[in-house]
Amino acid sequence: MWKSKQVINEKGRTIRTMICQNSNPESSKWGEFAPEDGPCKNWVEVGANATAVLCSDCTQRSVNNARGASIGA
Ligand SMILES: [Zn+2]
Repeated sequence: MWKSKQVINEKGRTIRTMICQNSNPESSKWGEFAPEDGPCKNWVEVGANATAVLCSDCTQRSVNNARGASIGA
C-alpha cells in the first residue's frame, strides 16, 4: 500500500494525496519509468478509493517510452 495523506489545497479544501508509485520503483508496475536520478517524490491528488497512482511526470515518461501504443487516441 502506498503512502497517502490529507492536505489542504490552495482553495482551503481538504484533499487526499498519494505518493507516486515510482517512489518505490521495485514495487511499482511502472518502475522502469522512475526518474533516472532516483525515486520519484511527487504527490498526486487522488480520490478516496485510489490505491495507487502514477504522477504525471512518470506517466509522461511511460508514454514516451511506450512501444507501439497508440497515444492520445
Ligand atoms: Zn512519479
